[in-house]
Amino acid sequence: MDSLYGADQFARLSLGVFPTPIQKLPSFSEYLGGPLISVKRDDLSGLAFGGNKVRKLEYILAQARHENADTIITAGAIQSNHCRQTAAAAARLNLACHLVLGGEAPSTVNGNLLLDKLFGCHIHWSGEHRKGEDIPMLYEALIAQGNKPYIVPYGGSNESGVFSFVHAMQELCKQSGTVMPYSHIILASSSGATQAGIMLGNELADQQCEVIGIAIDKSESVDFSLSEKIVMLANKTADKMKINKKFTLRDVKLDDNYLGAGYGIVGAAEKEAIRLLATTEGILLDPVYTGRAMAGLIDYVNKGKVGRDDHVLFWHTGGLPALFAYADELLSVS
Ligand SMILES: *Cc1c(COP(=O)(O)O)cnc(C)c1O
Repeated sequence: MDSLYGADQFARLSLGVFPTPIQKLPSFSEYLGGPLISVKRDDLSGLAFGGNKVRKLEYILAQARHENADTIITAGAIQSNHCRQTAAAAARLNLACHLVLGGEAPSTVNGNLLLDKLFGCHIHWSGEHRKGEDIPMLYEALIAQGNKPYIVPYGGSNESGVFSFVHAMQELCKQSGTVMPYSHIILASSSGATQAGIMLGNELADQQCEVIGIAIDKSESVDFSLSEKIVMLANKTADKMKINKKFTLRDVKLDDNYLGAGYGIVGAAEKEAIRLLATTEGILLDPVYTGRAMAGLIDYVNKGKVGRDDHVLFWHTGGLPALFAYADELLSVS
């Protein structure tokens, strides 16, 4: 149990505070009249308001260090949690950081964008261009200026990011005893590495729990679906770990029934989920990811898709600074 598969292939540096706590939600569970629900608090992962990207960055930035990078580049939406955690990690490691954010500079700076600025990173607005389209140009420009840039992929989803969640599953097993009590693990899924890592870690630990991703947005690519990306990520990581394991699309449980009006648009279901968890347990969810995933779980309970005797682990992936950028939407009566 103690030895970690793949630890030789993936170097790690320390950025966060682990293990993150696991907490039971008795009042919330009772309110729903459904299964026992526990939460894995990766929102408390310790760096810059926490979140799941801290785990990924411990491995991804170890690779950047190994390649002697002095500058980090990544991309995301205006309220990207990934970009905020990357900016904080870069500051901590004394690396320069360039963020390419979608759209134009807004008139109000708040939430994650405020934090990006406090971490002293350089912000580039991509205007009409697609997410990440400007990265190659920026990369070349930084090299021409004598820097050694390293590109962190969208959402931190590469093999290192996946491996960080294989490790997170080992952490969960250690916290839970030899047999995990959970029938299901439910999480918000977007760029795929979190789900791929939990899926692979679940398999390696020989656990029987069902891993379900609630899709937060449409696939970033027209060439492949998010489920296909999760399969690719899991298989590439298994290869790199020298493990003989091949996943297929049938192994991926990804539910895209909760996309609502689109990415980052808070609907009644997200608002209700955020309000319920806040009022019954004093725990905050974010408006874009965990609010949507929890709305999915509440619907599962209401529809009997998880049973009264089940024990569901909700993986809280963070995102809390965005709450402050959504004050008007969260308080509006709809
Ligand atoms: C990035 C993010 C996710 C999704 O994780 P992926 O590995 O990109 O699928 C979920 N929740 C929050 C709060 C995030 O910032």
